[in-house]
Amino acid sequence: MATRSASATSAGARISDFLRFLRSSPSPFHAVHQCRVRLAEHGFKELKERDSWKLTSGGRYYFTRNQSSIVAFVVGGHFRPGNGVSIVAAHTDSPCLKVKPVSKREKNGYIQVGAQLYGGGLWHTWFDRDLGLAGRVLVENEDGTYTHHLVQVDKPILRVPSLAIHLERGANDAFKFNAETHLTPILSLVNQKLNATAEKSATSTTPVSEAARHSSVLVNLLAKQLDVDAAQLRDMELCLYDVQPATLGGAEDELVLSARLDNLYMSYCAIEGLIDSIDFPGGVEADENIRLVALFDNEEVGSKSAYGADSALLESTLRRLQAGGHETAFEESVQKSYMVSADMAHAVHPNYAEKHEENHRPQMNRGVVIKRNANQRYATTSVTGLVLRELARKHDIPLQEFVVRNDSPCGSTIGPLLSAKLGLRTIDVGCPQLAMHSIRETGGAHDVKHAVCLFDVFFNNFAKLDQSIQVD
Ligand SMILES: [Zn+2]
Repeated sequence: MATRSASATSAGARISDFLRFLRSSPSPFHAVHQCRVRLAEHGFKELKERDSWKLTSGGRYYFTRNQSSIVAFVVGGHFRPGNGVSIVAAHTDSPCLKVKPVSKREKNGYIQVGAQLYGGGLWHTWFDRDLGLAGRVLVENEDGTYTHHLVQVDKPILRVPSLAIHLERGANDAFKFNAETHLTPILSLVNQKLNATAEKSATSTTPVSEAARHSSVLVNLLAKQLDVDAAQLRDMELCLYDVQPATLGGAEDELVLSARLDNLYMSYCAIEGLIDSIDFPGGVEADENIRLVALFDNEEVGSKSAYGADSALLESTLRRLQAGGHETAFEESVQKSYMVSADMAHAVHPNYAEKHEENHRPQMNRGVVIKRNANQRYATTSVTGLVLRELARKHDIPLQEFVVRNDSPCGSTIGPLLSAKLGLRTIDVGCPQLAMHSIRETGGAHDVKHAVCLFDVFFNNFAKLDQSIQVD
């Protein structure tokens, strides 16, 4: 059995790199872009799904779909059609406010931006935060082509103020708000003179439809960021985000404080685990499997989109990896494959410890959590649990266990969904965190290296270990 990559990044460098990744990923589009940059730096070649692929033994590849989902893979030196694929899957999206298709609002002297809720956020945490804007804008170029551009206004241009205690005396007893009327951010105060100038410049350069849909203040701000004419903006998908950067916290820098730890944490560890795994001398050359990372958008809203986990994205990728093989290569391959579904887990909360089952109270910085649920909210089985537990034991990597209380609702992941769809052996895991879906979550700083090591070891050793497992 191969050992862990000797070139593992030092703990300090790893955590700084993780903070950089978090700060650079305010939207799924940005997160995917960050992954692309990292993969390209390590010799991964970009593929397009619309082209035919010519894969070579030992080759490193990636492709994106919608620029918000990404798949990266490395072809093992001994891979043959019909062999398995060692998969780590996670998601790129997080709950947030998104700018509405028609966002322009102006009343009571304020310019506001209509925003819709994406996913199941802890929305009360969005009040009184410093909110910026990030996402993508579709631009019409001078040659008539249309291109996708990342945009980020990294300053607190937006604000959802709470109501003063003096105007709502019972606010501390039960904080209630209406998601449609009370969560609309302020962009600016109406300044008659400034607004008149902005309207004039927007109407002189912007098509009527764009000017009518969004405030000219917003349109001009974005055009300036992109250094294009406002008239070239055709459409946009923008997330609001907290501009306070991700940082270390706790007396000994043992915590990570950031937005979107669910699930940029596991997305980062998956990509870095794959990259680290190719450094192990002779590892890829000897591998009979393909190593693959799939990061999907839209998990927070049920995964049903052309680029979500409930699409044919993973299946069509697995089929393409068997191209040129014999008739049943795909079916054989699926039975030899294994997927780690990596999504954040709930650490025990000191002030709400009773919310956890007494024998299953994961703690931050004590390792990746294996999640199980008898009702199949998680896809882990005793066989899939055995695989990861054996790998972790042999390489001294800590693991923890989680089941939810019988009287508590249970979250779910893309694990059961993909497992059922493909008949794929799957384990659900994740690093423990607090305040999941808050605008400012809390995770463990040391679990980053635990998860990266675990995935590195998995990629380098799964194909071999699988030969000793006799369960059909
Ligand atoms: Zn998640």
